Amino acid sequence: MSGPETASAAGAVPAVAAVAAPDRIPVMVPWLGEEEAEAAADAVLSGWVAQGPRVAEFERAFAERVGAEHGIAVSSCTTALHLALIALELGPGDEVVVPSLSFIATANVVRYVGARPVFADVEEATGNLTAATVDAVRTPRTKAVLAVHQGGVPADVHALRAACADWGLALVEDAACGIGATVGGKSVGHGALLAAWSFHPRKVITTGEGGMLTTDDAEWARRLRRLREHGMNVSAAERHASGKPIVESYLEVGYNYRMTDIQAAVGLVQLGKLDEIVTRRRALAARYTELLAEVPGLTPVRDPGYGQGNFQSYWVLPAEGFPVGRDELLAALAAAGVSARRGIMASHLEPAYAGHGSAPLPVTERISRDSLILPLFHTMTEAQQDRVVAVLREQAGG
Ligand SMILES: *Cc1c(COP(=O)(O)O)cnc(C)c1O
Repeated sequence: MSGPETASAAGAVPAVAAVAAPDRIPVMVPWLGEEEAEAAADAVLSGWVAQGPRVAEFERAFAERVGAEHGIAVSSCTTALHLALIALELGPGDEVVVPSLSFIATANVVRYVGARPVFADVEEATGNLTAATVDAVRTPRTKAVLAVHQGGVPADVHALRAACADWGLALVEDAACGIGATVGGKSVGHGALLAAWSFHPRKVITTGEGGMLTTDDAEWARRLRRLREHGMNVSAAERHASGKPIVESYLEVGYNYRMTDIQAAVGLVQLGKLDEIVTRRRALAARYTELLAEVPGLTPVRDPGYGQGNFQSYWVLPAEGFPVGRDELLAALAAAGVSARRGIMASHLEPAYAGHGSAPLPVTERISRDSLILPLFHTMTEAQQDRVVAVLREQAGG
C-alpha cells in the first residue's frame, strides 16, 4: 500500500487502496475515510439508526447545496425516480420520453408506473437529450421527459425546459450522476420541477446506496415524504419525537423507500467534501484531455458551452476507423492492469426491452458500441494516468 502507484494524491486515508491489488488501476474508487467511519459509528452509538435526525439534516444540507426548497432522502435514485413519476400521476396510456443511452433504471421506472418509455436519441458531444431529439419522438400521449445528466455532463436544461413548457410536458431531471455539475453557474437540478440523485459508490459522492429527490414544490414534497414511508400521515421519527401517543393513518398505498440515519451520517461528510472531489475530478479530466490530444482518433468528453460537468465518467469516443475496436482496447487496458469500462449502455438493446420498439437511435448506438470509460478517482496519481494513456497511445499506433 505504500508504492507510488497507490500513494494518496490528496491526503486521503488509504482505506480505498485495500480494494485493489497494488498494481491494478480501478475505474472508480469512492473517496471515503475515517471521518465517514466515525460519523457512521456515531449514528450507530446514538441508538437511532433508521430514518431520523441525520436524514433530516442531510436533506436540508443537500437541498441547500443544489438550490432547491425541499430534499426528500430515499433508498436510491431508482426509487427517487419512481416516486417522481407517481407525483406526476403518470400511468397506463402515458408516454415518457427517456434517453436509451442511460443506466437502465431511467427507462425501467417508467414501466414501474405502467407508463411507456419512449426512447429518444442523444447528441454525440454530450450524450444527452436535446429539444430536437425529444421533438422527434413525442406524440399526443407524451406527458413527461426524463432528462439525464449523463456521466455528469449537464443536459441543456434551459433549452429543454423552454421546449417542454411549449409542449405542455413535465421535465424531470435524472441527476444520478450530476451532483456538482452546473448549468449557467447554478447546480443542475436548480429550478427543476423534480430532480433525482444517486449516492451509489459509482457516483460522485456516496452513502453506500441512497438517493434524494429535490423540488421547490411544498405539496409534492409532503406527498413524496409520505410515499417513501408507507403512505403514513406522520413519520415514525415525528411520532417518536412528539412524546405523546399519535395514531398514524395510511392515506394511500406507499412504499418503504427510506434512507437510514447511518447512510445520512456518511452522506453529510461526503457532501462536505463535494467541492474538493469535483475540483480534483475536473483537474484529472483536464490532464487526460491534454495528454490525449496527442493520441490520434480519440475524442474525449468535455464541458458543453452552457455548463460544466463533474466528470463522474470520463469517456472517450474512438473515431470511425480507429485501428482497433473498443473491446480490443478494453482488453489491452486490462492486460496492462487498467480497469476501464464500456461506455454508457443502450437500454433499448437489452433483453428487457426486446420487442419494445423505438425510433432509429444511431448516435446512441454509436456511443454505446464504441466509447469507453477511463479510470478516474479522487486519489488517482499522475503516474497512473500516464499508464492509462500509454496503452491508448500504443493501440492508436503512435
Ligand atoms: C446510477 C444511475 C441510476 C440509478 O441510481 P441508483 O441510486 O443506483 O438507483 C439512475 N439513472 C442514472 C442515469 C444512473 O447513472
